[in-house]
Amino acid sequence: MERFDPEAALADCRHEFGEHGGVNMSIETSTTFTVLDPNTMPDLFTGQLGPDSGREGCYLYGRHFNPTVYVLGRQLAAIEGMPAGYCTASGLGAIAPVLMQLCEQGDHIVSASAVYGGTWALMHDFLPRKCGVTTSFVPVQDLAAVEAAFTSRTRVLYCETLSNPTLVVADLSKLADIAHRHGAMLVVDNTFSPLSITPSRFGADVVVHSLTKFVNGTSDFIAGAVTGSKEFVQSMMDVHTGALMLLGPTMDPRAAFEISMRLPHLGLRVAEHSRRAQCFAERLRDRGLKVVYPGLPEHPDHALIVSMLNGDDPARGGTYGFGGVMGIDLGDADRANLLLDELQNRQRFGWIAVSLGYFDTLMSLSAASTSSELGDDGLGEAGISPGYLRMSIGYTGSLEQRWGQLERALDASGL
Ligand SMILES: *Cc1c(COP(=O)(O)O)cnc(C)c1O
Repeated sequence: MERFDPEAALADCRHEFGEHGGVNMSIETSTTFTVLDPNTMPDLFTGQLGPDSGREGCYLYGRHFNPTVYVLGRQLAAIEGMPAGYCTASGLGAIAPVLMQLCEQGDHIVSASAVYGGTWALMHDFLPRKCGVTTSFVPVQDLAAVEAAFTSRTRVLYCETLSNPTLVVADLSKLADIAHRHGAMLVVDNTFSPLSITPSRFGADVVVHSLTKFVNGTSDFIAGAVTGSKEFVQSMMDVHTGALMLLGPTMDPRAAFEISMRLPHLGLRVAEHSRRAQCFAERLRDRGLKVVYPGLPEHPDHALIVSMLNGDDPARGGTYGFGGVMGIDLGDADRANLLLDELQNRQRFGWIAVSLGYFDTLMSLSAASTSSELGDDGLGEAGISPGYLRMSIGYTGSLEQRWGQLERALDASGL
């Protein structure tokens, strides 16, 4: 397969200079825009005129397109190897409108059983009640079960490249084949693997992100993105039927600016998150702990993820490694909570908090937090035990300093 270099694609994106020639773009804060020729106003509403029409001065209103948010959308599209993109106020603010755009009342989704808790609740509880859109959850590794779950009304096959929190790797090429054979779209959440894996190369039709995590990287913005074809992104902005336009999960241009300023070092950050996670995963495994990390050769999907990584020498992690998130299965919640207490309150290895992709290490028990929406049955189907500790490995401090803290916490917890 042809090599894809997401950082080269980002650098090739048209550079936006500031309005006074600054090296940084200006922030366009206006919610509304002057229309120079009054005759063009109707064209803006029908979508004939707009930011992609190649004519300047084509903005209408900030819930439609904003120039600063649009720059970040183009940058995300470049990274994802997609023709178009736009940004939203949150990751779920991207996922929910995408599903509502693609499904009519009575339509059906096939989803991986291991997905982010909020996404699971959206599909399991919200969409059937509010929109009459139902979802079948299947283990994404079982391709026969995925195929068997399709009905004549299935419009979307949904998965995460690396599942939150179980780190199951989706075989995107095979899933895309199944979806396309049934006339459905493959929608992929690539939040856990920005830059390292590019789902569009394997046939994903729409790629969504929670920018809140690795892409922003400083846990100070909630944000999301949708990337896909030009027609699809435009359809989401249609003034009559566009789910982004009409549900209104609009990103603030100030947030777009800040996040855009952090994209140039996303590659450095992802590589360092991965380098440390790989090192800790190997050492924890050697200590006899049950570690889940796709960079370990014993991970069931190790060969699959190697086949999808960007960069040179994918067997050794390519350019960006196997990601910054790992899991440790400690069996029961009491043992895990004891370790968490040591890690945060005595060793200061990291913080007990949900979310991920932060510069410091963040740790949480998935069953008791970001996957609690799944309930006992859903947790069982997704393979999340009560003692499953998700760690998003940070890059602050030195690696050996952090390992020392982790080791002392393990010693103190009898692990
Ligand atoms: C956090 C997360 C989301 C939701 O994103 P928000 O920005 O919190 O709305 C969706 N998918 C995955 C994989 C996530 O980790």
